[in-house]
Amino acid sequence: MTNIKYEPVIGLEVHVQLKTKTKAFCGCANEFGSKENTNICPVCLGLPGSLPVLNAQVLVGAARVALALDCTIRHFIKFDRKNYFYPDLPKNFQISQFDMPLSENGHLDIKVDGISPKRIRIKRVHLEEDAGKLMHPEGSISSLVDFNRAGTPLLEIVTEPDIYSPEEAYAYLSDLKLMLQYLDISDCDMEKGSLRCDANISIRPAGETKLGTKAELKNMNSFKAVKAALEYEIKRQAQSLDAGERIVQETRLWDEKKEVTLPMRSKEEAHDYRYFPEPDLPPFTFTDADIEGMRNSLPELPQQRLRRFVENFGLGEKDAAVLIADKELADFFEACVEIYNEPKKISNWISGPVLFNMNSRNSSFGALRLTPGHLTDLICLVEDGTVSNLVGKDILAQMLAAGSAPKDIVREKNLAQVSGADELNEIIEEVIAANKKSVDDYACGKENALMFLVGQVMKRSGGKANPKVARSLLAERLKRT
Ligand SMILES: [Zn+2]
Repeated sequence: MTNIKYEPVIGLEVHVQLKTKTKAFCGCANEFGSKENTNICPVCLGLPGSLPVLNAQVLVGAARVALALDCTIRHFIKFDRKNYFYPDLPKNFQISQFDMPLSENGHLDIKVDGISPKRIRIKRVHLEEDAGKLMHPEGSISSLVDFNRAGTPLLEIVTEPDIYSPEEAYAYLSDLKLMLQYLDISDCDMEKGSLRCDANISIRPAGETKLGTKAELKNMNSFKAVKAALEYEIKRQAQSLDAGERIVQETRLWDEKKEVTLPMRSKEEAHDYRYFPEPDLPPFTFTDADIEGMRNSLPELPQQRLRRFVENFGLGEKDAAVLIADKELADFFEACVEIYNEPKKISNWISGPVLFNMNSRNSSFGALRLTPGHLTDLICLVEDGTVSNLVGKDILAQMLAAGSAPKDIVREKNLAQVSGADELNEIIEEVIAANKKSVDDYACGKENALMFLVGQVMKRSGGKANPKVARSLLAERLKRT
């Protein structure tokens, strides 16, 4: 808890851009990064006489997310107009859902710190369309508008105020994003704006049950920024209350550079938007069979996969959590197990050396050029003693750089472990000759000296000596001294 005297109460609103081929109500391409104002038509520009047509892919995608969040899906679907004027909104209204959202009353069970589970209730999941984008070129006195994004499908996922710390907010966002990735519904890229999060936060004296006055925080561009903005806001509100001031209900923007929230405007009420049913779109209906069909077609979700990894493969919960946290990584793990049925060994290699290489290269798993065949071949080379564990890790790094097979690297660079007595004894004689003091120490009963000498053998062999064989040969040789 950030503050003992006060308890923060947080609700999150997440906007998810659905990665459909076309926009929500017209046939324009739903693409990020196209030339400005090329994916536009009379419908998404709101020209007179044009009529919206709902994209079925959007409705089904949204319903799948709602079902994965265990929400109740409404059978009767209607859309409403949310009226407001803003230069990036060509129609002067947004098609949204007001009093009858697509779905309500779900939940997401999150893991705070990856361990303690907590249930966050989902208030509603509804569909709407996105607005365009304003650009303010530096040094110019005018602003520009790009309508490519206008009319692209957005899903709004709203929680109940069940989140009590910035850490819980972070865990919720991470777990929600992972679930959306498993559903393959969105790029979930906060930098491109395909995942956006607003936060409502109020604080109240510890033990109080009534909610305090909330502020809405916007403009956070990463999960870390959400956490930082919440931490700042908790302090700011606590200082205001301590000074005997009243908290004003308002929207505040997170300033990433200054690391503060700044007031933007006093919060609008729903009636400011003059909602009314969208007259150009007929209501839609879902039958029970539609909903059951969609529910049955849901893929395996992250928490289900975690359970399966623990139960079927005997992995520890922490190890399984590392794998499922990246869908590509979890798929790769399963492909490896199909080739080489040693789940624990594979899991150790993936969550150890493979992740280490991913992090040190700051790359995604897909960019590593690692195939299940190559990794399992490498593990087998280590297991059968052809190469040491240490050299195995080295080979992995070379495999990733060149995309080549581990056996080729071992052959080309002559990396196979030396276990032969002839070769090792030669090195051992050199080490004994060069380290008289350690040899004497060992003779006097200093066991540590043996480890030092084994280390010297390893060093002289360029890391290729089999440490177990080297140790026993060395011990035998020293007995004879
Ligand atoms: Zn269009």
